[in-house]
Amino acid sequence: MIRAHTIRLNPTPEQANLFRQAAGTARFCYNWGLRAIKDALDRGEKLPHARALRDEFKRIRAAAYPWTFQVGKSAIEGAFVNLGQAVTNFFASRRGRRKGKRVGFPTFKSRRRGYGSFYVANDRLTVDGHTLTVSKVGHLNMTEALRFTGKILGATIRYQAGWWWISIQVELDHTPPTHTGPAIGVDLGIKSLAVTSEGEVVENQTHLKAALRTVKRLQRSVNRKVKGSANRRKAVLKLATAHFRVACQRKDVLHKLTTDLVQRASLVGIEDLNVAGMRKNHCLAQAISDGGFAEFRRQLDDKAPAAGSQVVAIGRFYPSSKTCNHCGQVNADLTLAMREWDCPNPDCRAHLDRDLNAARNIRDEAVRLAGV
Ligand SMILES: [Zn+2]
Repeated sequence: MIRAHTIRLNPTPEQANLFRQAAGTARFCYNWGLRAIKDALDRGEKLPHARALRDEFKRIRAAAYPWTFQVGKSAIEGAFVNLGQAVTNFFASRRGRRKGKRVGFPTFKSRRRGYGSFYVANDRLTVDGHTLTVSKVGHLNMTEALRFTGKILGATIRYQAGWWWISIQVELDHTPPTHTGPAIGVDLGIKSLAVTSEGEVVENQTHLKAALRTVKRLQRSVNRKVKGSANRRKAVLKLATAHFRVACQRKDVLHKLTTDLVQRASLVGIEDLNVAGMRKNHCLAQAISDGGFAEFRRQLDDKAPAAGSQVVAIGRFYPSSKTCNHCGQVNADLTLAMREWDCPNPDCRAHLDRDLNAARNIRDEAVRLAGV
């Protein structure tokens, strides 16, 4: 099982300089390879393989680009691996073999979109507590210790929102425990973030609203500044930082929820919502809307195996809200505005809370699908 931990770094100005250099070299190699691919396709030739391009680059490197020797070689290797992956993703997406949204043809990386990132192979870094050692860069401070124990597979160092970060991939030597918890269904809410079949309500995060107001204010501030001016550049950095904060806050809310769920439940039942359709739905809770559902699902799938838990998504068209959890009668008249309702079945007449009832139906349907 592979897990990644992203940690903020505190490089010295000299080290930050080396990072910029490595990221710049990685960007150069990526663009060099992409140019070679585009030229080959324009000439009607076969698509060159990223590995062949890397070898070609290595051959001409000493004569044509001697400055690329200043950075660790894994930054260059990683750039060609990323390029190969981007090309593969594009063709897989075009053939419809890739889940999710369609991927465009790789584009050139621009310095204008930030310093970027570069790869560090596992033989070029060591981790000891809060200290990270990278070859050619030296020791540097990490704001927290690596969360996982296991074999380090590699790492990516990137610049984002004014900070340098390292994402370390670790292969866990971990046998998942047998989970003894109950099955729990989750209904992602409109008023609240989520309601579970156990009756817990996870409230909507109000601080997110405040942060989003800040983003809007900073966006207006950027729009007022003259294009290309120093003031605009400063405002853009502030806006990027605010965007990053919102993304972190959203993820944090979801991380707390998903960790709690996989620890408590042996089976987590969720709705397999149409992610694209969700994005259009402004009624959903702030942390879930704007693609947050995909993140929620990703986190659950990521964490469940380690906890010995199982995630089951029920069908998109299963009427989880409209079905009475006591007798199974479907109430076709239920509208979105009805937060509570009475079962129309004369033999049942159960008084139901909309979200709790939906969460229980999701749980039961997930248990049925899992066949446990
Ligand atoms: Zn009923």
